[in-house]
Amino acid sequence: MRKNIIAGNWKMNTTLPEGLALAKGLNEALKGKSTKCDVIIGTPFTHLASVAAAIDTQRIGVAAQNCADKEKGAFTGEVSAAMVASTGAKYVILGHSERRQYYHETPEILKEKVKLALASGLKPIFCVGEVLAEREAGKHFEVVDAQLKGSLFDLSPEDFGKLIIAYEPVWAIGTGKTATADQAEEIHAHIRKTIANKYGKTIADDCTILYGGSMNGGNARDLVAKPDVDGGLIGGASLSVEKFMPIVEAF
Ligand code: PEP
Repeated sequence: MRKNIIAGNWKMNTTLPEGLALAKGLNEALKGKSTKCDVIIGTPFTHLASVAAAIDTQRIGVAAQNCADKEKGAFTGEVSAAMVASTGAKYVILGHSERRQYYHETPEILKEKVKLALASGLKPIFCVGEVLAEREAGKHFEVVDAQLKGSLFDLSPEDFGKLIIAYEPVWAIGTGKTATADQAEEIHAHIRKTIANKYGKTIADDCTILYGGSMNGGNARDLVAKPDVDGGLIGGASLSVEKFMPIVEAF
């Protein structure tokens, strides 16, 4: 069954004490509340173990924002998927446009990261999305198809079924510009069709596809009301409980 999910991506924000306070605040806000979605927070690596120990991880899943494309060894400064899993985190965000753009992560590198994450029992939240020039040239469908095929379509159906996909138009990330609900639905439905063509209708129907890009308490309801929008990946608005909770409650 397809799950509704609201996931926060804290990016490179919060010191450890600030991150712990934010996670505990969210934990408190969710206590005793029944919500129609799963909630995940993507924290910096340094916070993962402490955050996982401080909150109810049955209620709030913990995600890393990256992992290495190598299993282990002499890769100074890298953090492996197995290390992430050993903190209590259950998810890892991979393929975020900031990593593709600033750290030159290619489809091949991301393919390795996805494989290693799955082998460590992590659920990847795999991001795809076009830049503004690609959208204006009408190329957004082919761009997301290439991103899916380039990193994910060698996976077995069983492994593909463990993924969460996040469609994040790069022009909407951190810009205050959101895709309209109709624009989001159009491309989410397209992504689901591309998945169905490769893995069949059941796997496509069960796949959670999140929207990301300036989602907030004001626009979340319209977005998640669309049949193929199963939740959101939230950057800026995940950094305060007051801004994040209305998105969680948008279902
Ligand atoms: C993101 O970074 O994944 C994101 C969607 O950011 P924002 O919500 O700030 O646009």
